[in-house]
Amino acid sequence: MNDDIGPEKVIKIYDPKTGMKGIVCIDNTKLGPAKGGCRMRPDVTEDEVFRLARAMSLKCSMAGLPFGGGKSGIIADPKKFSAEEKKAMVVAYGKALKNLAPAEYITAPDINMAEEEMKWIVEGNGDNNCCTGKPKEMGGIPHELGSTGFGVVQSCFVGLEHLGMDVSKITFAVEGFGNVGEFAVKFLTEKGAKLVAVSDSRGLLVNPDGIDFEKIKAVKDSEGTVTKGDGEVKESKDILDVKADVLITAAIKDLISDDDVSRLQFKLVVQGSNIPMTLESEKKAAEKGVLIIPDFVANAGGVISSYVEFKGGSVEEMWKLVEEKIVANTKEMLAGISGEKCPREVAMEIARKRILE
Ligand code: NAD
Repeated sequence: MNDDIGPEKVIKIYDPKTGMKGIVCIDNTKLGPAKGGCRMRPDVTEDEVFRLARAMSLKCSMAGLPFGGGKSGIIADPKKFSAEEKKAMVVAYGKALKNLAPAEYITAPDINMAEEEMKWIVEGNGDNNCCTGKPKEMGGIPHELGSTGFGVVQSCFVGLEHLGMDVSKITFAVEGFGNVGEFAVKFLTEKGAKLVAVSDSRGLLVNPDGIDFEKIKAVKDSEGTVTKGDGEVKESKDILDVKADVLITAAIKDLISDDDVSRLQFKLVVQGSNIPMTLESEKKAAEKGVLIIPDFVANAGGVISSYVEFKGGSVEEMWKLVEEKIVANTKEMLAGISGEKCPREVAMEIARKRILE
């Protein structure tokens, strides 16, 4: 798995007292300490941690942050432990990072690891800067503010400008109504864009007359699904057939397969979710004339927010930096696309060059 970027280190950690077993992958630190979250799952593998670490190297480099890429995992099923046992393991994980964090690696929340766990990591590690995504009273900038969704929308604005489209006149669809999707809807509808379809794990709601953000949020909060809103209900995957100008992906990986590309009627797809398409399907979409803004360009708002938290910045600085960086990077990428290169290929080149040079 080694190439010209990394990984520089793959470390196995173990604490006999709590039984904590983990893997830390530091892919690359040329631009700064490796940044990337820690997930807790019983099936975490070295390969998975490495692939996620590489994605972070590219994302941080593309975002122009003084961070490299890393990732870690604690191999455990939190459902099988009491809260005290989980805490002891997470504290032990923080302690095991003592020689690495924050100088070489800075961790963050991921699957089954949230704000509270970051507090425990600091308890074990002793350095408040060993992780981001901490509670507000520890200098954290909450994810609930919607930094990633906000960044996705900034990328969307640049894509629309590139296509000569006016945001106040577009229709759009959003796959997933969680942290990323909800804020994408909020920030786009605030600019006058019309939401015509929105999905979650229970199905797809379609309404060509428009779906109001506050109303659909209230429905999701009270009923647990957007499918109880006003409109026609279909299968989640039917979002690919929706007739709208823009699709924002904000849920699952591999949403759009190579075969699905021919179904798309969107002019622009902004990837809020990670790896919703393969490179091959992105190339096909480019040939068909659909502009795709790749995940590691569009959804870097969260890691940019982590950077602001790391350097002790404010929420206002966070909004400003997310906008500045995502707009600049999306523009830089779009300036490089041609008949031969799709947006992801251009972005990969920019990110790799920044790391290697
Ligand atoms: P979340 O758990 O808050 O929300 C996920 C949403 O997707 C939920 O509404 C869920 O019902 C819906 N969903 C699940 N299966 C679905 C399906 N088959 N079809 C349609 N909707 C479905 O997650 P999130 O934090 O919003 O993350 C969404 C995606 O964005 C993930 O790919 C994640 O890796 C990526 N991402 C998130 C962040 C972040 O800061 N939250 C940053 C970068 C990338």
